[in-house]
Amino acid sequence: MEYEAVIGLEIHAELKTRTKMFCDSLNDPDEKHPNINICPVCMGHPGTLPVANREAIEKVIQVGLAVHGSIPQFSQFDRKNYFYPDLPKGYQISQYEHPLVKGGWLEVIKKDGGLKKIRITRVHLEEDTGRLIHDAKKDVTLVDFNRAGVPLMELVTEPDLRDGEEARLFAEELRAVLRFLEASEADMEKGEMRIEANISLRPAGYEGFGTKVEVKNINSFRFVEDAIAYEIKRQSDVLAGGGKVVQETRGWDEKKGVSVSQRIKEEAHDYRYFPEPDLPPLTITQELVDSLAAKLPELPQKKQERFQKEFWLERDAARFLAYDKQIAAFFEGAASEISEWCQSSVDAKMCKPADLYRVLANFIATNLQGMLAGVGASVNETLITAENLAELVIYVVLGKLSQPAAKEVLKTMFETGADPSVIADEKGLWQVSDTEELEKIVSKVIDANEKTVAEIKAGKTQALQFLVGQVMKESKGKANPGVVQELVKKRLGI
Ligand code: ADP
Ligand code: MG
Repeated sequence: MEYEAVIGLEIHAELKTRTKMFCDSLNDPDEKHPNINICPVCMGHPGTLPVANREAIEKVIQVGLAVHGSIPQFSQFDRKNYFYPDLPKGYQISQYEHPLVKGGWLEVIKKDGGLKKIRITRVHLEEDTGRLIHDAKKDVTLVDFNRAGVPLMELVTEPDLRDGEEARLFAEELRAVLRFLEASEADMEKGEMRIEANISLRPAGYEGFGTKVEVKNINSFRFVEDAIAYEIKRQSDVLAGGGKVVQETRGWDEKKGVSVSQRIKEEAHDYRYFPEPDLPPLTITQELVDSLAAKLPELPQKKQERFQKEFWLERDAARFLAYDKQIAAFFEGAASEISEWCQSSVDAKMCKPADLYRVLANFIATNLQGMLAGVGASVNETLITAENLAELVIYVVLGKLSQPAAKEVLKTMFETGADPSVIADEKGLWQVSDTEELEKIVSKVIDANEKTVAEIKAGKTQALQFLVGQVMKESKGKANPGVVQELVKKRLGI
């Protein structure tokens, strides 16, 4: 029998706020010393009272608006009761029936270019737990409460996904949105974003849902795809063998590439949810929602679409530039220098703006990106100014610098921050388009290659490229190949 996978995601993200969710202990994910950012509130001491963090609430509302969700006026925190050593209070403050955000969707673009809209059920706010560190050698478990009480956003999707690719694309899209909003760094490797995938199978074409399995411990985007593919295969094998899928929680073991059963899943009633008596319900006014909506930045998908239209970029190039806020800003800085030049310079008539933007995009995506990765720096730290990069691009498109020469100039710009014209002067890298100078070299080459000339005249025109190559070599690569080709043809009268 043919099966179809049905997948829904639960995604947690640690919010980037100054303080924790219900107290004024610092929310500092980079704190190296354990149990530094703690206080009686996040340690769950009796007699303490929580106070909700406005910054965290506002960030989740902004996420809700960005994913086209609705923001109910009434929202409430609830206690989710369970016992675990990383949870000092013996319960987690979360949201159950009245989350901050209801509904919404994100759209992803699949490899084959197809669009897929994935509906969001809800987004709510809760607090993170502490961290357990198991030391097998000493046979002890240590606990660090720096993370206990850190604001945690949870987003739940409808079971709209059908394969691992869609799940990864959704998670990547959400990460970009979170970063653009400065709501979360959402780095999966650091545990700032955690994905749980609920997976079930059903006969293809069937409307109902099969029994689902929840897979946890997925620590990278690649593992999202791997874990889902593995689970789909495992469940189809169970079903093909006449067995039944058991509803359970499994953990992804990235080293072995398998999922391992952890526990048979709890039901909501096991948590004995009830409204948190120590916090009043929230009233989210329309004024607050409107003011947060007004502050939303341009989101990655919109930015990509604009880059495609405004700068005539291919989809993939536009996506690469648009989905990283810093790279996007750097690109736009240089692009606006180019636009200005196009409007003010007489030379601009000699080139197409689309060529300029394409060369610029390519320099950033390939050369600059490679150099930054080589030294482990981000684009904010580069010495190359937008103005200088734009200038370099213009030289390339006008034919004043060849591609290899431009790459050499760019490398020095990266190292020293110097002007491209100064570097090209110093290194003598300008392309020679001056016909008088080139004609001399062409004559010299033609005189030295009588045999080839005779062949060309006899109709073997491919040999022309050989002569062009010789002129290029003679000029040490500085001749403009287009101009050389024309000059050789003119001299030979073809
Ligand atoms: P639970 O109460 O077990 O946590 P929820 O109804 O809260 O289940 O759903 C959790 C996630 O699982 C959601 O993302 C939802 O879309 C997804 N989901 C629900 N039923 C299925 C199913 N049969 N197969 C796959 N995913 C499912
Ligand atoms: Mg759930």
